[in-house]
Amino acid sequence: MRMNVNLYTEEVQNWIKEIQSNRGRDLERVISFCDKVESFGRETSDDALIGFACFSRGETYYLMNDMRNFYAQMLACLAPMERIGEWGYVVMANNMLGIMSLNRGNAPFAMDYYMKALNYCHTYKLPDLEWIVHMNMGALYLNIEESQKALDHIENSYHYIMAHPERPDYIQNLMTAYLGMAKAYLNMELRSSAEKYSDKIRRECRPYLSPLDLLVVDCFEARLCREKGDQEGFREAVTRINEGILRDVPIMDIFDDLYEYMKMLLDAECSPEFISIYQVVQHLIQRTSIKNMEKKLLTLKIQYLKKTGQTNEYNRATIQYYEISEQMEKENRLMVTSMISMRNSLNDLAAINREVKQENIALHRKSEVDPLTGIYNRFKLNEYGEIAFEEACRNQTSLAIEILDIDYFKQYNDNYGHQAGDEAIKEVARMMQEMAGRGKIFCSRYGGDEFVIIYEGYTKDETMGLAQTLKKLTSDRNITHAYSKAEKYLTISQGICWGIPKTHEKIWDYLHAADELLYKVKKISRNSIRIGDMGEL
Ligand code: GH3
Ligand code: MG
Repeated sequence: MRMNVNLYTEEVQNWIKEIQSNRGRDLERVISFCDKVESFGRETSDDALIGFACFSRGETYYLMNDMRNFYAQMLACLAPMERIGEWGYVVMANNMLGIMSLNRGNAPFAMDYYMKALNYCHTYKLPDLEWIVHMNMGALYLNIEESQKALDHIENSYHYIMAHPERPDYIQNLMTAYLGMAKAYLNMELRSSAEKYSDKIRRECRPYLSPLDLLVVDCFEARLCREKGDQEGFREAVTRINEGILRDVPIMDIFDDLYEYMKMLLDAECSPEFISIYQVVQHLIQRTSIKNMEKKLLTLKIQYLKKTGQTNEYNRATIQYYEISEQMEKENRLMVTSMISMRNSLNDLAAINREVKQENIALHRKSEVDPLTGIYNRFKLNEYGEIAFEEACRNQTSLAIEILDIDYFKQYNDNYGHQAGDEAIKEVARMMQEMAGRGKIFCSRYGGDEFVIIYEGYTKDETMGLAQTLKKLTSDRNITHAYSKAEKYLTISQGICWGIPKTHEKIWDYLHAADELLYKVKKISRNSIRIGDMGEL
C-alpha cells in the first residue's frame, strides 16, 4: 500500500506485515489481523488503516468464496479510500465487485463497477490497473456474447501486456489475452483467427503455465478441436482435463471456462466425460453458495436428463431450478441496495467503448509502423507479405521481393554522426515511398539500413524499371558521402527475387533469394541491382 507505514508504531506495522505476508495463504490469520488494524484505525480516526483493513478482509472473503462478507467489506473500504485519495485501492475494489457481480449473474452491475474503475483509472492515470479492468470488461462481454466489444477490450489489455514484458506474470497475462481473443473469434465463427491465438498459447505460453491455467486452456482447446473436427486433439484435451481437474480450486475464476466446456461435451454427446466433470464442478460450487453458478450448472443437468430420457430426475431438477431462481431474487436484492448509490449512465458506457476502439486503432498502427521513418516495420511486413504471397499464388500473378541496403552506411554514421545517419535513413524511406506511390508496391524498414519492398503484379522488366527509378531518385538526392567507396554520394544496393508463386513455396523463399542476390551485389559491385527469377534460382 502507498500509505506511509513508517508513521505507525511498531506494533501496528507488524499487524500490517502479517496481513501482507499471509495474503492468499493463511486466510484466518489475515482476517484476525485486519480486525486489529481496523479497530485501531477507528480509535485513531485513520481512514488509511480502516480502508486497508476492509479491503484486505474483502479480498480474503473473495478467496474464501464468502460472498456476503466480501460485499460488505469491499463496499466499506470505498469511502475511506476515496477520502484519502487511494485511487488504486478504489479501482481494485470496484474491479473485484465487478467480478463478483458477474459471477452472480448480474452483468449490468458488473458493468457499472468496471466503468467506475475505468473512470478512476483515466482520471488518476493508472495504466497498470486499467488493463486489468479492460480484461475483465472483455470477459463480461464474452459472457453476454458481445464478441466484438469483448475483442476491443481484450486487445486493449493485450497492447499493454505486450509493452511490459518486465511485469510479473507476463506470460500468464499474455495467455489470458490470447485466450480471450481466441474465444471471441470462435464465437464470431472466425475459426482461423481463433486458431492463430490458440497456436500462440501453445508456442509461447504453455510450458510456463500453472495447472489451473492449463485447465482453462485445455477447456478451450477441446472446444476448438471439436469445431475443427480434430478428433484426436479433442480426445487428448479431454484426457488432460480429466487428469488435471483439481478438487480444490477457486472455482469463480474458472467457472465460465468449465461451463462452456461442459456445454460442448453435452453437444458432443460425451456422457461419461460430462458426468465426471459435472460432479467435480458441482462439489466446488456447493461450497461457494453462489446461486448463479448453481443455476447455470443445473441448466446443463436438465439438458442432459432430457437428452437421456430420465423423466423423474428431469422433473426433480426443474423444481430445483425454480427454487434456485427464487433464492437468486433474494440474493440480487443485496446487490441492488449496494448499487443504487453508484449507477452510471449508458452514455458513459458508449463513450468508454468508443474510446477503447479509437485507442486500439492508434495502438495497432503504432505497432506496425517504424518510428524513425514512419513506413511499415518488419512486423507488418510479415503480415502483409504472407497475405500478398497467398493471393499471388491463388491468382497466379507475379510477385517480387526486393531487399535494399545503404552502401557504406557504417562509415556514414561514423563520420557524419548518428543524427545525420538517421536523416539519411529517413531520406531513403522517402524516396521509396515516392517510387511506391506509382503502383501496387509495399515498402517497409527491415531494420538498420535495410529495407524490403514487395511489388505485386509487375513483369520482371517492369520490376527492374521500378528498382532503377528508386536508385535514380536516391542518387539524384546527391547526399554527400565522402567516405563511400562506391560513389561520392549516398548509394543503395538492391537484390530482387521475381516470380509467380507456387503452392509449395513460401514468402521466405523469395526473401531469402533476394538476400542472396543482395549479398552478391555487396560482394562484387555496390550501388547496383541484381534481379533473379525464382524459377531459375
Ligand atoms: P554495406 O555497404 O556492406 O552495407 O556496409 P554498411 O556499413 O552499410 O553496413 P553495416 O551493416 O556494417 O552497418 C550498418 C550500420 O547502420 C551499423 C549501425 O551503426 C547503423 N544503424 C543501424 N540502425 C541505425 C539507425 O536507426 N540510425 C542510425 N543512424 N544508424 C543505424
Ligand atoms: Mg549497409
